[in-house]
Amino acid sequence: MSKTKYIFVTGGVTSSLGKGIISASLAKLLQERGYSVTIQKLDPYINIDPGTLNPYEHGECFVTEDGAETDLDLGHYERFLNIPTSQVNNVTTGRIYQSVIDKERKGEFLGKTVQVIPHITDEIKYRIQILGKTGDFDIVITEIGGTIGDIESLPYVEAVRQLKWELGDQNALAIHLTLIPYLAAAGELKTKPTQHSVKMLMQSGVTPDILVCRTEHHLNDNIKRKLALFCNVKKESIIESIDAETIYDVPNLMLAEKLDLVVLNQLKLPLGKVPKLLKWNDFLQKHKNPKNNVTIGIIGKYVELHDAYKSINEALIHAGANNEVKVNIHWVHSENLTENNVSKKLKNLNGIIVAPGFGGRGIEGKIDAVRFARENKIPFLGICLGMQMAVIEYARNVLGLTNANSLEMNEKTRHPVINLMKEQKKVTNKGGTMRLGAWNCSLSENSKVFDIYKSKKISERHRHRYEFNNKYLNQFNKAGMQTTGINSKTDLVEIIELSNHPWFIGVQYHPEYKSTVLNPHPLFVAFIKASLAHKKSK
Ligand code: GLN
Repeated sequence: MSKTKYIFVTGGVTSSLGKGIISASLAKLLQERGYSVTIQKLDPYINIDPGTLNPYEHGECFVTEDGAETDLDLGHYERFLNIPTSQVNNVTTGRIYQSVIDKERKGEFLGKTVQVIPHITDEIKYRIQILGKTGDFDIVITEIGGTIGDIESLPYVEAVRQLKWELGDQNALAIHLTLIPYLAAAGELKTKPTQHSVKMLMQSGVTPDILVCRTEHHLNDNIKRKLALFCNVKKESIIESIDAETIYDVPNLMLAEKLDLVVLNQLKLPLGKVPKLLKWNDFLQKHKNPKNNVTIGIIGKYVELHDAYKSINEALIHAGANNEVKVNIHWVHSENLTENNVSKKLKNLNGIIVAPGFGGRGIEGKIDAVRFARENKIPFLGICLGMQMAVIEYARNVLGLTNANSLEMNEKTRHPVINLMKEQKKVTNKGGTMRLGAWNCSLSENSKVFDIYKSKKISERHRHRYEFNNKYLNQFNKAGMQTTGINSKTDLVEIIELSNHPWFIGVQYHPEYKSTVLNPHPLFVAFIKASLAHKKSK
């Protein structure tokens, strides 16, 4: 008999119902009741991972400690649970097929015809159970991407059916997240789409144990009874998930709806102590009752889709709450910024973030934004490409290196102040080949970042191919741009800051990936504090 219990989460009726948030909220409650829980996302697309996807497709690519490029839902899992995820927490159809095909080439199927059932479904079942077999988790929640009825998800649903049967009711359960639309003209909530969705799920052999119903209005007893009767689910297992003001309200809402109790009762697990969510609610209290506000500009080229900068967005929320400040984000498209309009567009900002990114589109606007922040002493945080743009701006406008650039943008530049990393020169494949995941960094004691991190050694997550060109190091340092964070093994510059500016920091890594509700990231906390001070000084 298996020790680890499994919970499967599928979605019905439409996409974007928030399976990730429901999974993370349930996991949070189970964690508070004393269980070790992790969450896994299965994505039904053929890319091996989202690393090669344009952010417009699926939003941000989230990077784990072990350097996996993953779905942005893993960011939610980490922010809610405060524990790291890894490569095994995100599996795609591409990865499943790749390993099955690799095995076939090695002859491991001993002459058999390799088929979706059983070979692909076996591989899915194996990937689901890897996390359980580590012995680290009492409960593994597996979120199946997509919507029931999608052709792509069929093998996953079949794998869930098999696992539920093999493990038994006490060891595995299925939650179906669905939508109960409200028809304003009729003044009614409608259950029919959910009935159809559950019917489709049952045709695949999976009976949901719990329905979580997204709704704009409360579900009355009648509706719950109807859903229970037509969907073969106990009435107490119909869980309302009403629209919330913030995603961080959802654990409390699920607690009030007793989702955790229904789950533990079915899995025959002790209930543990009632979740108090003390630190969580302390954060929420501060988030909802700010004493002040700041406006932060995010300068990027994917700003039409805020999900492209999900982790930065959330890190600002955590840092805002920590400072008891509401953070208003002002999204600025870098392609629309020019030397002539930058002052008009950015003058009301209390702090400026230049976002990560790839390729040349919009970079001149980013450089104009850096210059504006530097010259007007506005708190500035440059992240990855944002840090590289700060280096280029300083080279051009302070060091006088005309047309200085990154080799990424101009291979023939006379002043490649941003260089391709040595180990990247031989790289030809695009997928999974950047400098990824956690790397150590040593901070200079006499620096702003040392005051912020209060430590000489830090570790942060990365995703890049280009780096500060150390040939120019002395020139920059002498002119006031200090390199205050270095990877001591490779001498790679991880942090730059300006000594003659109240708060101007660029980081080659992505601090946003490590910010959680219970551990807001010190760099974002300090940035918001500086932005508030800047606002007050005006
Ligand atoms: N394009 C830059 C590089 O590869 C920056 C990457 C990023 O912002 N994540 O180095």
